[in-house]
Amino acid sequence: MIKLQKKAIKVKDLIIGGGAQISVQTMTNTLTEDLDSTIQQIARLEDCGADIIRVSIPNHNSVKVLAEIVKLTKVPIVADIHYDYRLAIASIEAGAHKIRINPSNIKSPQGIKTLARMAGDSNIPIRIGFNQGAFINKLSPDALISTMLDQIKIIEDSGCSSLVLAVKCSDIATTIASYRKLYELTNYPLHIGLTEAGAGESAIIKSSMAIGTLLMEGIGDTIRVSLAGDPAREVYVGRRILQCAGIDKSFVEVIACPTCARTSLPVEKIAIELENKTKHIRKQIKIAVMGCSVNGIGEAGNADFGVCGGLNQSIIFKNGKRIKTINNQQIIAELLNILKEYTDG
Ligand code: SF4
Repeated sequence: MIKLQKKAIKVKDLIIGGGAQISVQTMTNTLTEDLDSTIQQIARLEDCGADIIRVSIPNHNSVKVLAEIVKLTKVPIVADIHYDYRLAIASIEAGAHKIRINPSNIKSPQGIKTLARMAGDSNIPIRIGFNQGAFINKLSPDALISTMLDQIKIIEDSGCSSLVLAVKCSDIATTIASYRKLYELTNYPLHIGLTEAGAGESAIIKSSMAIGTLLMEGIGDTIRVSLAGDPAREVYVGRRILQCAGIDKSFVEVIACPTCARTSLPVEKIAIELENKTKHIRKQIKIAVMGCSVNGIGEAGNADFGVCGGLNQSIIFKNGKRIKTINNQQIIAELLNILKEYTDG
């Protein structure tokens, strides 16, 4: 499939679409009116690698706090609006960098036009975010896209052509089918993800399958992994999806053998500890943790460095060549020392 370059949309200093790097989004789950908690959560999410952060604006008190949030944070802030278009207008006045609406729950067609006119005049983009679950009769991908195209026309005709589009569903097949159609039929960048994915491992797998499939087809300009719980986990998984898809190459990849009867090391424990300790590093480095020396160095030949386990002592290798033998208790410290040489260099 030929990747079509979508229109570039500016959200504060960040570009979505137009060939820009794919951004990772998440959403706060603090009470927006609790300024301190919300600011603290936004700072933590930014540290984890969130490029855009959305906050719920359920009432006018939240709008007042939003004005403070945008002053006190660096990351682009999106106001999430449902039901009342006036909250969207007030959010633009409060300094929101982007507005997310779900037109299916805003019962004032005139209100959507008024909002679109103001967003256009203020150069504030709107994300039209349909969730299939919001429709009582659960629209098919065709009907969902047709509804989206109608809304795009209404909003464009009212003066706003700075749009990002999303048609999230809670099952993988419908999500993929809907985004494929949307990708073919519009020139706006797409915010991709699965909605109501869940909380645990299956939610991560479902999101990774849907988002991963679309990304590998060149579809998607910004992503959100929706997981119940700490939004930092959404950011972490989102970044990992981009890394595993080969889109974000600046990270430490820890590879490990699957273990077998020859294994002489706690491979899983070492690999997980290394992964946890290197999450923050933005450099393309590959470390291998191999349970024995039978196939070790050869199988991990494309790693920058790594370890091949022995009964009490293990081999440390670099660029496919053995460099030293160390006691097994020193493995993690030794690998972190070598990593430091790579990151300092
Ligand atoms: S590297 Fe060694 S321990 Fe690991 S799976 Fe292969 S043979 Fe087994």
